Amino acid sequence: MKETFKNSANLINLEDAIKSYALGIASIVNNGRDVTLKIENVNAYLKGCPNAKQPQGVTVCADCGYEIYEGEQYAKLDNKDFCIDCVKNCIHIAENDK
Ligand SMILES: [Zn+2]
Repeated sequence: MKETFKNSANLINLEDAIKSYALGIASIVNNGRDVTLKIENVNAYLKGCPNAKQPQGVTVCADCGYEIYEGEQYAKLDNKDFCIDCVKNCIHIAENDK
């Protein structure tokens, strides 16, 4: 998703651009005057923006209760859904105790 604002390059500074980038929005100054905001990750943007309508979770992690949103990875085990962090916590490297 892209949105271009004419003659707006003087309205944003580097700090704004860095904060926006952390929310998944790339700021592109086209010709020294116009700024294009390119939303790279709509889900991250919606979660970070206080004015955005909060997205509906698709399912909830059976272990930690984290709401899993559209486009996120999750695991289904024994007909229960688990977020990717809980799945990572269950991964071990097998070692012999010899
Ligand atoms: Zn979880």
